[in-house]
Amino acid sequence: MKRILIIEDERPLAEAVGFSLEKEGFQVDIALDGESGWKKCLEGDYGLVILDLMLPGMDGMEICRRLRRESDVPVIMLTAKDSDVDKVLGLEMGADDYVTKPFNMRELLARVRAVLRRSMGEREAREEHLLRAGDIELDRVRHEVRVGGNVVEMPLMEYRLLELFMRHPGKALPREYLLSQVWEGDYYGQSKTLEVHIRRLREKIEADPSQPSRIVTVRGVGYRFEAGG
Ligand code: CA
Repeated sequence: MKRILIIEDERPLAEAVGFSLEKEGFQVDIALDGESGWKKCLEGDYGLVILDLMLPGMDGMEICRRLRRESDVPVIMLTAKDSDVDKVLGLEMGADDYVTKPFNMRELLARVRAVLRRSMGEREAREEHLLRAGDIELDRVRHEVRVGGNVVEMPLMEYRLLELFMRHPGKALPREYLLSQVWEGDYYGQSKTLEVHIRRLREKIEADPSQPSRIVTVRGVGYRFEAGG
């Protein structure tokens, strides 16, 4: 269930919004001023924050700015008609969407659903970009490998080999298959090269490269990647 935080100083409005969201199956928290709202942001695990721009004390603009620095939780701003929308959605504040007061509940609910859908899509895309096995991370967007959080230099063929292994954990992969996938068309006679690359890869990701526990040799077949190793 998605938790939503409403930060709005007009209690009747906050409660009406909360009631509508709960009817839709969301779990709702309400904060009636900026300070307590910001505290809740830090403590709670929210899927969305609905934030009034004009708040006593710490205003919505300040909360939104701080949120953007600390997390990627989506924010919908409640704004007055004459407020500067470019600023609300722009880099300075970085809200995901806004609704102008007065608004009807159906409009707000539609925005809530759209923003949540978008942020879930982005999260899934991010996860697909990141392959993980134990303390090894292969970041397909940055084209980067990290072991225990540290970036490890990796030439293209080693990178492609590791990516292939990480996509098929626990499976014995035949040498021919590895060669054809990593070196594509021109792998004929590259058998020695595969061994060299495996050895270099082991030096980078194995705790003890002479006793490999991650890239294990499977006699007569090829190699198997152990995700837990
Ligand atoms: Ca207000």
